[in-house]
Amino acid sequence: MSSANWDRVRILLLDIEGTTTPIDFVYQTLFPYASRNVESFLRRHIAEPEVAALVTALKAQNGQDHEAGLQPPDWQDSSNEMRLRSAVAYTQWLITNDSKGTPLKSLQGKIWRGGFANGELHGEVYPDIPRAFTRWRMQLREICIYSSGSALAQQQVFRTVISGDLTSHIAGFFDTQTGIKTAPQSYKKIAALRGREPEEFLFISDAAAEVEAARIAGMHSVLCDRSTPASAQRISSESIHTFDEIFPEQPRFDQEDAFNPAK
Ligand SMILES: [Mg+2]
Repeated sequence: MSSANWDRVRILLLDIEGTTTPIDFVYQTLFPYASRNVESFLRRHIAEPEVAALVTALKAQNGQDHEAGLQPPDWQDSSNEMRLRSAVAYTQWLITNDSKGTPLKSLQGKIWRGGFANGELHGEVYPDIPRAFTRWRMQLREICIYSSGSALAQQQVFRTVISGDLTSHIAGFFDTQTGIKTAPQSYKKIAALRGREPEEFLFISDAAAEVEAARIAGMHSVLCDRSTPASAQRISSESIHTFDEIFPEQPRFDQEDAFNPAK
């Protein structure tokens, strides 16, 4: 695809789910892990104020779901054991229903943290990601991440990739604390936080609404379509299939001087 108008791009801003990482990793690995481990996690940690507060928030959300007629599992608060079992059953129900609620996200993040730390979970990326990161860094470009997963979870994903830790390539991690991913303002804010102009960024995502929001903010942006084989006809010239298509030129030996400006 044409990259003629990307001459000023110095920073690659990347979505994770569906872009650097298969969506299956979330649905087939992370969600089932949280579902399997929520009971043992709560038995160990429910006395901690932060976790207890999450359980209280889950109970409130359970009441709202009942009122809305969503038929979540009943919440029993008659004893500590019943409260814990209610929290487990309701959390598993929320995971099955792909809830985007904050209490679930926070609880999942804490459960995953343990799995990444003890080696039960490893981050997954598409095979073109590590070589693209190396290539872009050799080209003296910056790499930043913008995902709805918490910045902490993002770091864990890239730190624990089996082929090696990728976090040393990544200059910044942005999550929804910066703003939602479909709002142009979020992209302007990220540019400002990096001290750069929006047109110095190329944003890559599998979500058309995000690609459009970044474009409105003044960034270059491109849709990443992982669903079609590389050999298939492009849906449009504005979509890519792998990161191999983005700044593919390998740095030549005579560009090594770029690493040594004093020379
Ligand atoms: Mg995505």
